[in-house]
Amino acid sequence: MFENLSERLGGVFDRLTKQGALSADDVKTALREVRVALLEADVSLPVVRSFIKSVESKATGSAVTKSITPGQQVVKIVHDELISVLSGDEGDDRLKVDTPPAPILMVGLQGSGKTTTTAKLAKRFKERDGKRVLMASLDVNRPAAMEQLAILGQQIGVDTLPIVKGEDPVAIAKRAKTQASLGGYDIYMLDTAGRLHIDAELIQQAADVRDVVNPRETLLVVDGLTGQDAVNVATEFDDKIGVSGVVLTRMDGDGRGGAALSMRAITGKPIRFVGLGEKLDAIETFEAERIAGRILGMGDIVALVEKAQATLEVEQAERMMKRFQKGRFNMNDLKMQLEQMIKMGGMDSLMGMMPGMAKHAGKIKEAGFDDIMLRRQIALINSMTKKERANPELMQASRKKRVAKGAGLEVSELNKLLKQQKQMADVMKKMGKMGKGGALKQAVK
Ligand code: GDP
Repeated sequence: MFENLSERLGGVFDRLTKQGALSADDVKTALREVRVALLEADVSLPVVRSFIKSVESKATGSAVTKSITPGQQVVKIVHDELISVLSGDEGDDRLKVDTPPAPILMVGLQGSGKTTTTAKLAKRFKERDGKRVLMASLDVNRPAAMEQLAILGQQIGVDTLPIVKGEDPVAIAKRAKTQASLGGYDIYMLDTAGRLHIDAELIQQAADVRDVVNPRETLLVVDGLTGQDAVNVATEFDDKIGVSGVVLTRMDGDGRGGAALSMRAITGKPIRFVGLGEKLDAIETFEAERIAGRILGMGDIVALVEKAQATLEVEQAERMMKRFQKGRFNMNDLKMQLEQMIKMGGMDSLMGMMPGMAKHAGKIKEAGFDDIMLRRQIALINSMTKKERANPELMQASRKKRVAKGAGLEVSELNKLLKQQKQMADVMKKMGKMGKGGALKQAVK
């Protein structure tokens, strides 16, 4: 699936990953190729535009950690953006079919895989959810289509509504409804007639049936290989009949998979399922993550980047530990660490990252070392001269007055800071000793 797109993006990122640093020009070049690749994959232009725009703003100026390359970082950003465009509401496979008998209207063009998908879903409802399902074909113009559904029903052990010659679609729908109620079915699925193109009669028929059964779900089946056409079909069906979800078929082929992207972005309808072959169990719940991974074909890199981002935090923590171990703790160190602590989610989360440190947390809180304090302390430190920061013991009365005034705080607060800095230095020294022997390293592996 999506091989063209995947290969193209793969080429772009291969070139990128060989470079050392990612400049704004690099981002632009890479995204130009991503843009071409998406357009060639038949993703519609407005979707491509907004996609590229948001990737560009995220890629430029994003932090690149030591253990990954800038190219890999861009892959991750493109991947995350794909997911965000592709995903819709949660629980994509949770259709509203709880009150029996729940009608499901299946609509779509002829040849889209509508009948096959009807059978696939019936089989899934039966086997996975233990539901009793009744299927009915409304394609009165094509007796072969009605036969086809009956045969599929036999194959999967799902009942089909007996065919009565000369009945119109609305009459069949009514009979299916009655039969579903009397027969104690949980779900009844109506496979409406397809046409090669959307025409007024087709739409009218589907609308009439809709008004009779009031479907809980109206699932549009579209051929995923037809690219932008698929999106046009979806838009039209949705305007005229109202669609609750989309099934993209033939996603097993190696055609242009851009339909999934545009479909989601333009129609706003959730893609519920993807068809992955002719066999009756070749259907899967649509999962944005999986599709995005397949589009990029770079799942490993994404995992790597995620790990690297976690490692970045660990690297920072380790650097802090090294300082603690040295017992070096002037105001510059304190300021840097205060800032890091805030970035990393505050004192509590930092304590949580260090094994054996939890028992010191009380002591640290007692010393007034909470998150608001962190910010005030930074303000005080900012108000000190370079020399004072490096040598806190220089802080005598007149200096104290000046520094406190500069931060808009009282001298008493500065005294607290100085006392805390000393206390912290002591605690940190103790922590540093505990941290020796790699306790921190082990815990984050
Ligand atoms: P309908 O006219 O919309 O009812 O289409 P059918 O259900 O008769 O399907 C048309 C053809 O497409 C059949 O040969 C199916 O086996 C095939 N088909 C349906 N879904 C898929 C799919 O997800 N992947 C592949 N490869 N073929 C499919």
